[in-house]
Amino acid sequence: MTSEHVLVTFCCSVCGEVLEVNPAMRAALLCKGCVLCSASVTDDDFERRVDSGA
Ligand SMILES: [Zn+2]
Repeated sequence: MTSEHVLVTFCCSVCGEVLEVNPAMRAALLCKGCVLCSASVTDDDFERRVDSGA
Protein backbone atom coordinates (compact mmCIF):
# COMPACT_ATOMS: atom_id res chain seq x y z
CA MET A 1 0.00 0.00 0.00
CA THR A 2 1.15 3.48 -0.78
CA SER A 3 -0.20 6.83 0.24
CA GLU A 4 -0.87 7.57 -3.43
CA HIS A 5 -4.07 5.58 -3.20
CA VAL A 6 -5.43 7.09 -0.04
CA LEU A 7 -8.82 8.63 -0.50
CA VAL A 8 -9.85 11.70 1.38
CA THR A 9 -13.35 12.95 1.97
CA PHE A 10 -14.02 16.44 0.70
CA CYS A 11 -16.90 18.26 2.34
CA CYS A 12 -17.66 21.71 0.99
CA SER A 13 -18.38 24.10 3.83
CA VAL A 14 -20.44 26.30 1.51
CA CYS A 15 -22.72 23.99 -0.53
CA GLY A 16 -22.37 20.84 1.57
CA GLU A 17 -21.21 18.64 -1.30
CA VAL A 18 -19.40 15.54 -0.12
CA LEU A 19 -16.99 13.72 -2.40
CA GLU A 20 -14.40 11.03 -1.96
CA VAL A 21 -11.35 12.13 -3.84
CA ASN A 22 -7.88 10.92 -4.57
CA PRO A 23 -4.79 13.08 -3.99
CA ALA A 24 -4.85 14.42 -7.57
CA MET A 25 -8.48 15.51 -7.25
CA ARG A 26 -7.75 16.96 -3.86
CA ALA A 27 -5.00 19.09 -5.33
CA ALA A 28 -7.32 20.23 -8.11
CA LEU A 29 -9.99 21.25 -5.61
CA LEU A 30 -7.47 23.18 -3.54
CA CYS A 31 -6.30 24.95 -6.69
CA LYS A 32 -9.60 25.63 -8.45
CA GLY A 33 -12.20 25.57 -5.67
CA CYS A 34 -15.38 23.55 -5.23
CA VAL A 35 -16.60 21.92 -8.43
CA LEU A 36 -20.20 22.85 -7.66
CA CYS A 37 -20.18 26.29 -6.08
CA SER A 38 -16.62 27.46 -6.83
CA ALA A 39 -16.04 28.31 -3.18
CA SER A 40 -12.42 28.41 -2.17
CA VAL A 41 -11.26 25.12 -0.69
CA THR A 42 -8.80 24.79 2.14
CA ASP A 43 -7.08 21.86 3.78
CA ASP A 44 -9.70 21.97 6.53
CA ASP A 45 -12.36 20.88 4.03
CA PHE A 46 -10.74 17.46 3.72
CA GLU A 47 -10.88 14.56 6.10
CA ARG A 48 -8.35 11.83 5.64
CA ARG A 49 -9.82 8.35 5.72
CA VAL A 50 -7.78 6.00 7.79
CA ASP A 51 -8.52 2.32 7.31
CA SER A 52 -5.76 0.94 9.48
CA GLY A 53 -8.05 -1.02 11.73
CA ALA A 54 -8.82 -0.14 15.36
ZN1 LIG B 1 -19.31 23.86 -2.80
